[in-house]
Amino acid sequence: MYNFAAGPAVLPAEVLRQVQSELISYKNSGMSVMEISHRSSLYTEMEAEAEADLRKLMSIPEDYDVLFLQGGATLQFAMAPLNLANRTRRIGFVDTGHWSQRAEEEAKLVTGIKAEVVASGEASNYTELPQAVELTENYDYLHLTLNNTIEGTMYKELPYTGKVPLVGDLSSNILGQEYNVTDFGMIYAGAQKNIGPAGLTVVVVKHSFFKDAPQLPAMLSYAKQAAKHSALNTPPVFAIYVAGLVFKWLVQQGGVAQMQQRNEAKAQLLYDYLDASQLFKSPVKKQWRSTTNVPFITGNQELDQRFIAQAQSNGLVNLKGHRLVGGMRASLYNAFPRTGVEKLVEFMQTFEETVRR
Ligand code: PLP
Repeated sequence: MYNFAAGPAVLPAEVLRQVQSELISYKNSGMSVMEISHRSSLYTEMEAEAEADLRKLMSIPEDYDVLFLQGGATLQFAMAPLNLANRTRRIGFVDTGHWSQRAEEEAKLVTGIKAEVVASGEASNYTELPQAVELTENYDYLHLTLNNTIEGTMYKELPYTGKVPLVGDLSSNILGQEYNVTDFGMIYAGAQKNIGPAGLTVVVVKHSFFKDAPQLPAMLSYAKQAAKHSALNTPPVFAIYVAGLVFKWLVQQGGVAQMQQRNEAKAQLLYDYLDASQLFKSPVKKQWRSTTNVPFITGNQELDQRFIAQAQSNGLVNLKGHRLVGGMRASLYNAFPRTGVEKLVEFMQTFEETVRR
């Protein structure tokens, strides 16, 4: 069975096996990993190791804090403005589709914040991304969604390199595509795509970026979370534990560069077929195609539904596209095996032959 879900995504089989074995007794403690106290050294060592591995994988410098929070990427839509928009109180948004719009809407709900779209992919129905963004106003930061999970577009190069700090939503391609952390003031990602179980959100933020933040309720404050190593209240121990195992797996696999190479090769298999097919096509312009989320369509809704149902009975599951765009979508995160893409392409060929007969 191959699971093409956009989230929660597949985890490496080796990691699942280790989780299975430690579910009953973590490091011979006699306690399940879900039963260990977050005030015990078992936990603090586990958390420190996960952080160290993430720092290694993403080359995160010492002047950036790594936070393991809750609330999903969606909470960061509000937490980033609360903590980081303190001077002009204005935030620029690059409108790249659904998730960037959700981020902008939430920012606007924070009292006193002005959120402004500075560039948009709307004219192309989000099949292309704004390139070479220029800012004419001063903003506290520019928000960018690096991979658009629903539309299937991805920034491989940053569209802005000016002085205004970047805040990046990397929810659907963190650790699958190489970026320089130092090009950003802050990045965030919900864990449930390329990292581990839902319930954990990774935030990497430059320490000096939030130093002017006002007094905030503890759970909403980067400063207070950082001061307590993300254990201000009970942290999502199990999710952090699995994320730590995934980080170790990634290190063993050769790190982010290796993952990016594999992801590009996996996605290329599918895009090559889509470009040659008479039935299926990718709606996204080549330059902007995501390597982790690949939407495709036949242009005929009834045919799309038939394809999704038949794929499902052939063990290719969760290929239904997001309800906003319809069609199909294959999500190919780090742990998704190449053989799954090969099987999908084979199945698409057979389906296409049957339809054209
Ligand atoms: N940002 C992007 C790019 C996403 O793909 C998603 C979820 O799919 C979110 C934000 C929202 O994430 P969460 O469910 O963790 O709040």
